Amino acid sequence: MADFKTLVAHCKEYGFVYQSSEIYDGLSAAYDYGPYGVELKNNIKRYWWEAMTRLHANIVGIDASIFMAPQTWKASGHVDAFNDPLVDNKQSKKRYRADQLIEGYAEKVLAKADKEVTKAKKRFGESFDEAQYRSTNARVMGYQEKADAALKRMNDALGAGDMQALYDLIVELEIADPESGSREWTDVRQFNLMFSTQLGAVAGEAGKIYLRPETAQGIFVNFLNVQKSTRQKLPFGIAQIGKAFRNEIVARQFIFRMREFEQMEMQFFVKPGTELDWYARWKATRMQWHRTLGHPESKLRFHDHENLAHYANAAVDIEFDFPFGFRELEGIHSRTDFDLAAHQELSGKKLQYFDAETQESYVPYVVETSIGCDRMFLAVMSHALQEETVPDADGKDSTRTVLKIPAPLAPVKVAVLPLLKNREELTSKAAAVFDALKLHFPCQYDEKDAIGRRYRRQDAIGTPYCVTVDFDTLEDDTVTVRDRDTLEQVRLPIAEVAAHVREQVSLEQLLAQLV
Ligand code: ATP
Repeated sequence: MADFKTLVAHCKEYGFVYQSSEIYDGLSAAYDYGPYGVELKNNIKRYWWEAMTRLHANIVGIDASIFMAPQTWKASGHVDAFNDPLVDNKQSKKRYRADQLIEGYAEKVLAKADKEVTKAKKRFGESFDEAQYRSTNARVMGYQEKADAALKRMNDALGAGDMQALYDLIVELEIADPESGSREWTDVRQFNLMFSTQLGAVAGEAGKIYLRPETAQGIFVNFLNVQKSTRQKLPFGIAQIGKAFRNEIVARQFIFRMREFEQMEMQFFVKPGTELDWYARWKATRMQWHRTLGHPESKLRFHDHENLAHYANAAVDIEFDFPFGFRELEGIHSRTDFDLAAHQELSGKKLQYFDAETQESYVPYVVETSIGCDRMFLAVMSHALQEETVPDADGKDSTRTVLKIPAPLAPVKVAVLPLLKNREELTSKAAAVFDALKLHFPCQYDEKDAIGRRYRRQDAIGTPYCVTVDFDTLEDDTVTVRDRDTLEQVRLPIAEVAAHVREQVSLEQLLAQLV
């Protein structure tokens, strides 16, 4: 796996992601997707969308507007409670999230425990039992307890909305500004993450509306519309992909944390009492969706929430091992009837389901799966980008940079390359092959530079297949098809290329592994 700096540079150089408004020195925490980036992102969205709506007869999609009636955010709790605890360092004037400072402290303490474990592993060799060592070695246990205690106090303080307790904890743990080393902190205060703007010509509070901080509420307020117009019976789900906006306090990790980002959310409506069963099923289903992309087991893990929101009765994150460590990629939450009941109360409109079996009306419970499209993009890219040593055309070792993106997600599926640029019979034949293939897949035609350099360019954008048109092609209508990952080249009749490629690049072959 490439380091983070290399990854960010690669994204820019090869047209995947650019800083927003770069010519004006950029806008912080906003990014633009380039020509290959948008294709990869669209393919990720399609993989998610089809896995939800095509594979499940009882999941349907919607596309709600970003602006919603402002009461929506009152009912959902976002106006009053969608806050992050903010703290400034007095000396450096840098702004931080108090919880992230404390988590950073805990991570450092745990890293010391890991160091002890690594040392012991070396000392004991083969016979080393890590689990036993962690549960018996006094020093390791001490570090673990110290980190756990800090996180528990933090979670309690967050749960109670007690900003003074967070401040006290930062002072007590002697946490210093990671940049300046200063320990002079301001009070911790709540900062609401919603962006607001004005609606039409109405001035002041009356015209204040919000940019949605999550897509889920567009689903909740449409629950009955969808249920009635599609005649769904419980359990059923509504899926949506769309932009969300959060005025994040600290956003320094490229597209991992942005102020404008995209979510893929699915709310699954179930009969009360069955939600924990569905929660377990969705956990498994979502993990399988990730694993099917070929991410190794060691890169994905579940992380249960220690501190449940008051309306949730179970919540877990799927974490991915990004270049900067394990972080949340997706959340799965059992949200009870909190949202529907709150909207029902504030709007005065019934949001109930009539259960024909039991002849009762009730507010359904909800299990949601919520994943950031941009974080998924980063996960795919960070796993795919590799440097490897491979034999070049003369059989000598050379290094290549390759994006091993799962073929169904790759931006370009096939590159068509005439062996030489200055031979009209080759270029016109290659152009004809390109014209035939472009009807089936996103293709590229490239005739510039030596063939080896063209292969490297395609490797760098993750193209799974390169089709080369040479002099034999003119004789027998066959071409060589080079595989990005194995570098194997097979000779195939032109008429068979599409079928050969389709087997590997079609989304259907991923979907087939999910059913
Ligand atoms: P975090 O703890 O990292 O701030 P969260 O718990 O607030 O995330 P959720 O509200 O559960 O996130 O949102 C669901 C998903 O949306 C997350 O798992 C993540 O993939 C994505 N997401 C949330 N905030 C951002 C952001 N600022 N930039 C990009 N993606 C985001």
